[in-house]
Amino acid sequence: MEMEKQENGNRTIHIEKYYGSLRGMMKKYEKSARSGCFRGNTLEEFTSWQRELRGRLGELVGLPRMEQCEPEAEVVECVRVEEGICREKVLLQVEPEVWMPVYILIPEKEPEGVFLALPGHMGAGKYSVAGCREIPAVRDSIERFHYDYGLQLARRGYVALCPDNRGFGERRDEALQGDSEEQFLNSTCFQLAHMAEPLGQTVIGMCTWDAMRLIDYVCQRGQWDTGNLGCVGFSGGGMQALWLAALDERVKRTVVSGYLYGYRDSLLALNGNCSCNYVPGLWQLADMCDIGSLIAPRQFIVQSCREDHLNGERGLENVYEQTDVIRRAYALCCRESLFTHDIREGGHCFHPEVLDLLLH
Ligand SMILES: [Zn+2]
Repeated sequence: MEMEKQENGNRTIHIEKYYGSLRGMMKKYEKSARSGCFRGNTLEEFTSWQRELRGRLGELVGLPRMEQCEPEAEVVECVRVEEGICREKVLLQVEPEVWMPVYILIPEKEPEGVFLALPGHMGAGKYSVAGCREIPAVRDSIERFHYDYGLQLARRGYVALCPDNRGFGERRDEALQGDSEEQFLNSTCFQLAHMAEPLGQTVIGMCTWDAMRLIDYVCQRGQWDTGNLGCVGFSGGGMQALWLAALDERVKRTVVSGYLYGYRDSLLALNGNCSCNYVPGLWQLADMCDIGSLIAPRQFIVQSCREDHLNGERGLENVYEQTDVIRRAYALCCRESLFTHDIREGGHCFHPEVLDLLLH
């Protein structure tokens, strides 16, 4: 529309050839990417590589710049959402002056275990993951992406921790604090990245930190068995699940859906992705396969959809290159059976059958 107006109004000139930066950046990527990948052969070398990369990634995303505080957790609401499932709303202080609302879905029967169900974009944070279909915009989002995996886990007998991650739901920053559907469903990742990066922090680092504090909380609460704690996330929630499981070994089983591919095709060539994906210096150090390899030998399922545009122009090829590296890491640990690549048809969408694969 804007283009048309400009062209008709003769207020600009036509540019025949552009001198953009992508080709040069691609070349630079080829030259400098993945300096921190695993180059050893033995399990011992692999374990020490994992320890070192965890430290370097934590530094890169800004974990040392995060501030400890008392959680001052408070249960502010408790409702029965359906037969056999109660929902608490808990407020948790994750950093001084930074609060995280969390819906905790609790089966009334003795729970089988605990999962973090981490939300992705366009679902209003915890509301879609916790299955709040009574909100029409959320219902549409659940129908489109099958976003209600928190509720699905609770129906299977697990406590599901469904937080608002930073910039989502009740944690939206000033730019999107309003009730329109667009504001409600969207997140302020862009603004958060601008606030964080000059302070040596990143959105990924903040989300990972917050999820770690949620694990602290549920462990301290001591009410449920956290020995086989898991996390599940789709899309931006997959990003959080990947990073959390990579950096926090308390997570014993992980599903990353719609978020496992090579950075070059998916985040450099597709450079319009959400700001939360971008960490200064990351690609020089690691690709997603390296981060995923930090989850070995714990149970890890990657779910990919064949037509997901976020895989980049080479489609699943850009995924297989990453999962091959992760599979080799599991083989080195003699735990090949604990890594699964679940491939589904269609576009960017969560397929809940993966939960049955996970829990069988
Ligand atoms: Zn984002």
